[in-house]
Amino acid sequence: MRPLLLVPLLAACLQGTPASAAPEEAGLLAAREMRHLAATFPGRSVGTQRAGAAAEYLARRLTRMGYVVERQAFDSSYTVEKPGAEKLSQPAEGINLIARRPGGSGPVVLVGAHYDSRPVRKADDARQHIGGAALAGLDDNASGVGVALALAERLAAKPLQHEVRFVLFSGEEVGLKGSRAYVDSLAAEERARVRLMINLDSLITGDRLYFHAGPKTVSANPAAGFARDMALEIARARHIKAETNPGLNPKYPAGTGCCSDLEPFDEAGIPVLAVEATNWTLGERDGYTQTDRPGIPGGMSWHKTDVDKAEVIDHVLPGRVEQRAREVTEVLGTLLERLARPAKGQGAPDF
Ligand SMILES: [Zn+2]
Repeated sequence: MRPLLLVPLLAACLQGTPASAAPEEAGLLAAREMRHLAATFPGRSVGTQRAGAAAEYLARRLTRMGYVVERQAFDSSYTVEKPGAEKLSQPAEGINLIARRPGGSGPVVLVGAHYDSRPVRKADDARQHIGGAALAGLDDNASGVGVALALAERLAAKPLQHEVRFVLFSGEEVGLKGSRAYVDSLAAEERARVRLMINLDSLITGDRLYFHAGPKTVSANPAAGFARDMALEIARARHIKAETNPGLNPKYPAGTGCCSDLEPFDEAGIPVLAVEATNWTLGERDGYTQTDRPGIPGGMSWHKTDVDKAEVIDHVLPGRVEQRAREVTEVLGTLLERLARPAKGQGAPDF
């Protein structure tokens, strides 16, 4: 963990907010939603009917909680490589879901998670059971979506001073297309309102839970890591094990994360809190090897139809889905309430 960067402000933020009611319940809801999305909408890769059905389900859930849900369509064409043939361009229209509470014009904390799963992109993919219609994507990324829904529910009826906006992206698996389209769609004024992006991606299979900041924003200004430091502090106070990238591989600086929908936000100068579970001490120490459990071949479940599903994950890691769902929901629920509903006279950092 990095030294705390905003000690006085942080101390102010850590006081005065009561522990939320029923964190157990929110965690269980997150786990149920993860399992439902993975089991009911496998093969929800961008542009498919299954992705459309998943989007409708998610939009309905958020609408019922009282959010106004906008569907943002974007071009998410991608290339498919076949041996001995030209690369094929696969046309695909992606849909992002943007959920807001009515009203609100001040600072925004944005919670993002991609709901799409990996398509088949190479001739070899199908043979190696990578991507496609059978991929449940429980870890990547029904897990992030489940937590986002539970947080949305937890905050739906709370009086908040600042807006918490939920954006469920598509097209992550074909080059972060949905999150890029979303950031590009924000006018300068609207972009300036977004004071933090929290990205949830792959929370289950990895040995360890991590909170990172965005590499570009913290290298320009270390204070942009405020939410990472707050999340680590909240986790520590609640005896939840969490850490940040130790920086063992010089390509990936300590305290920062990468390789998901946080990137377009980080590039736009928006502070990021990236939440993931993996193991930055294994393999190339680049965060790609999630675990040393022998039941997960090669140490990763990403994109594998025969691994990234409940039957395997529950067998190899019994209880993990519910445990992580509870831990992440508890830390982030507390963090969001502190940021969006600061106690009287105490502004959150940078807000
Ligand atoms: Zn993912």
